[in-house]
Amino acid sequence: MAEETLFMEVEQAREEILAHIRPLASEAAPLLQALGRTLAEDVYASEDIPPFDNSAMDGYAVRAVDVSAASPENPVPLRVTTNLAAGVAPQAGVEPGTAIRIMTGAPIPPGADAVVPFEETDEGEPGSLLAEGQVRIRRAVRPGANVRRAGEDVHRGERVLDRGALLRPPEIGLLASLGRPQVIVTRRPRVAVLATGDELVEIGEPLAPGKIRNSNGYANAAQVLKNGGEPILLPIARDTMEDVTARVEEGLARGADLFLTSGGVSMGDYDLVKRVLHKLGHIDFWRVRMQPGKPMAFGHLQGVPLIGLPGNPVSAMVAFEEFARPAILKMLGRRCLHRPEIEVTLLDEAKAYSDRVRFLRAIVSRDVTGAWVAHLTGPQGSGILSSMVRANGLAIIPKQRGSVPPGTRVRVQMLDWPEDA
Ligand code: AMP
Ligand code: MG
Repeated sequence: MAEETLFMEVEQAREEILAHIRPLASEAAPLLQALGRTLAEDVYASEDIPPFDNSAMDGYAVRAVDVSAASPENPVPLRVTTNLAAGVAPQAGVEPGTAIRIMTGAPIPPGADAVVPFEETDEGEPGSLLAEGQVRIRRAVRPGANVRRAGEDVHRGERVLDRGALLRPPEIGLLASLGRPQVIVTRRPRVAVLATGDELVEIGEPLAPGKIRNSNGYANAAQVLKNGGEPILLPIARDTMEDVTARVEEGLARGADLFLTSGGVSMGDYDLVKRVLHKLGHIDFWRVRMQPGKPMAFGHLQGVPLIGLPGNPVSAMVAFEEFARPAILKMLGRRCLHRPEIEVTLLDEAKAYSDRVRFLRAIVSRDVTGAWVAHLTGPQGSGILSSMVRANGLAIIPKQRGSVPPGTRVRVQMLDWPEDA
């Protein structure tokens, strides 16, 4: 069957896909379950944080003016009127010549404007001849010293988090401090993952001659999960019209927001997937100028966007990274859709292609001088998953003739940040 195949640059392909992806609707989530999800509201502070002036230290609440002459040689005695713990509202203020013993987090009593930490007093000092109910202050403090001001962290009315923010533990903590038991987040996309091929067997099944196990289904479903989607892992589709049709219909019936297939989009004789997809929806077939990951498909099945990933295991994962991940993040309402990139020195020689940008599996680390460097992790064949396992990034080798010599500066898309660097 004759369909037109489009040649595309990586950027062009990504833009074409993203132009057809919309952020999903939002829903309320209990605060802790919002971890790792995208905020779908702007959050304004309904109150000051902290809500009242409070002590940053264990010590004595004083009037700074009373101790302005204090020094280790000439300590200033003050009468201690009471003790104030965190969580207790002050019953009395600090009058001239007096102090209140105060704990970290306790409200600053009226009259006081500074806290002198225990270390700057004779409290607990061995052999101290301190009279009962007195403290000697050994250092002058400025007004405001060791006082945490109401609203110094967050002011009431201030916008503290923006729609689109990724909710990490600090954001969860901030929302908790604002008294938010639940927040509005973007719904997680349901992503159907369909592996196609007569040669595939399920992972628990024994291999027969000519068969291989379905690794793409699991690798792609794991990528979906890792990036905030909910995978719908469909049973393998055989290379028949009936089977592919049935699986696609199953995915749609299970409420897919996005469809990912792997395999069946290359030039192979038995690739029926193309034909079926053409029948079921509107799909274009692309040859993206990249390696790995050249053959791709993109279109819609009954309004659901479909990205047809290549079949080779590394191609499927790399194409996921470049195209499906940004699509999922856009559905999640995230603001940044791309991986962080760093420039490093590539210590190995890398073959370049004049017509395709290469994404080479690389391990980024620091050398003995602390400089960021990268090694290729092994053979770069598009079926070699073990070199993907050893990689923490994809080194980008732009289109050019010949080879890139060792020592060349290259950009690396970081898939994981090295934890031991
Ligand atoms: P295709 O594009 O369907 O011709 O597949 C290209 C290559 O990827 C072939 O060697 C397939 O056997 C392999 N392949 C396709 N799908 C999978 C899968 N789900 N898991 C592992 N390998 C696959
Ligand atoms: Mg196939």
